[in-house]
Amino acid sequence: MSPPAAAQLARTLRPAIADERVLAAIASIPREWFVPESEVSRAYENVALPIGAGQTISQPLVVARMLEVLALAPTDRVLDVGTGSGYHAALLSLLAGHVYTVERHPDLSARAERTLTDLGIGNVTFKVGDGSEGWPEQAPFDAINVAAAIGDEPAPALEEQLADPARMVAPMGTKEQHLMLTERAGKRVSRRRLEAVQFVPLVRGPRP
Ligand code: SAH
Repeated sequence: MSPPAAAQLARTLRPAIADERVLAAIASIPREWFVPESEVSRAYENVALPIGAGQTISQPLVVARMLEVLALAPTDRVLDVGTGSGYHAALLSLLAGHVYTVERHPDLSARAERTLTDLGIGNVTFKVGDGSEGWPEQAPFDAINVAAAIGDEPAPALEEQLADPARMVAPMGTKEQHLMLTERAGKRVSRRRLEAVQFVPLVRGPRP
């Protein structure tokens, strides 16, 4: 479960990532299991790659930064919006207690679930649906990870599902996007704009 290439990828990210737990998680997940056959040779490059259905597995550096800013505790319950390949969910599952992951493409969700089962990961629950609505039945969450760009407005449905205290990281914007870190503590909600990123858009409405 821990190929040398994944450890090498973690070393590549070390200058930019201070949290050793995040680097250890990257080193222990075989990213090649999450990409199509045609992309396996590039699986450990620090780049986004196509995963089918017009979607991508995110760039490892950006995934690592999102994991780092969420500052997860081992008991945290996490909502992951945009399962895609399941790579980000697999990393979250190593750093948190339980991950609830939502994807609008049924085939991507099914494939991701198989991959995590094959890896022996048992603390991730999958759902096909519109993740912009969150997962009200499982709320509140200690952390929310959004892997698709939410546009120019904050996501109220997601913010409502934050526990107290809790954190959410999401790419915000349309053409120009930045990671936005939202922190809730009591009645106070603060937002901090981080680095520029490039994600596929969060698509609202019924499944394709
Ligand atoms: N986290 C993924 C990459 C995410 S790409 C990984 O590790 O591979 C963004 C994903 O969000 C895509 O799979 C896309 O289909 C999904 N998506 C877009 N809008 C969505 C929505 N409203 N609800 C759930 N998933 C959505």
